[in-house]
Amino acid sequence: MKLILSKNMGYCKGVSRVLALAVSALQDAKDAGKPVYSLGKLIHNDETCAFFADQGMQVIAGSEGYEPGVVVLRAHGVPDTVRSSFVEAGFDLVDATCPVVKHNLSSIAAYASSHTILIIGHPGHPETLAMRGVQCGGKSCETVLIHNPEDIGLPEPGKSYVVFVQTTFDQGLWNEIQAILRTWERYGCEIIFANEVCPSSINRRQATLELADACDAVVVIGGRESANTRALYRLVCKRGKKAWHIENETEITDEMRSYDILGITAGASTPSEVIHRVIDSLQQE
Ligand code: SF4
Repeated sequence: MKLILSKNMGYCKGVSRVLALAVSALQDAKDAGKPVYSLGKLIHNDETCAFFADQGMQVIAGSEGYEPGVVVLRAHGVPDTVRSSFVEAGFDLVDATCPVVKHNLSSIAAYASSHTILIIGHPGHPETLAMRGVQCGGKSCETVLIHNPEDIGLPEPGKSYVVFVQTTFDQGLWNEIQAILRTWERYGCEIIFANEVCPSSINRRQATLELADACDAVVVIGGRESANTRALYRLVCKRGKKAWHIENETEITDEMRSYDILGITAGASTPSEVIHRVIDSLQQE
């Protein structure tokens, strides 16, 4: 069996940054004699989260009921009211919001008074919630969520709209949605597309498609809850190639080894150690 590795896999810059900041947060909390928390799981990888849990970092869903300490806000960002609830409760914030996401959140606030804000994203995804939770003038900005092309109705003639897309949104769906929204110009509307899907997601998906074309089957490594890992798995399946989504080397099967050319790719929150362990195990007959 020959193994081919994707040209682009594993941590994106935003995830690497979260982990580096989480390590500093552990130290800061220790020095200050305070408890340390992460607001939600730091990343979608159980081994990494277990490492931080062993160091004393507790995953919490909100400030209420916890002794104030150091809290890490992960890469997706948080609604402004959540951020202020921690500040008001006396927590020290370690803001690991990805700079790309942060820029989008500031732009939403800047456009809120002049444009209707359309958010293209998955309902319930933390980044979508953060975008919809931007506050301006003491209240949440008014936003409209679009998840599918079917969600799009007709515009209010002559109105100005600005569109923000979740950084990990499916590029194909995003293209479809943009094409529909562009037709709103016929109604005299202004449509501004303020951002794009993150290049890190685009490059990883493109590399996965090339990998699928070059292989008989592909193993996709990443947490079960990782939306971007699941998207890579679906891409390979759509390309007509056999694919498996595994979290680590314990899920390797004989069937995977039965293919002549096997591809390996991994989601944005998959540690390189896990990828290497999978490769080593596959190479051992
Ligand atoms: S995918 Fe892009 S925007 Fe999202 S955390 Fe990674 S680098 Fe940041």
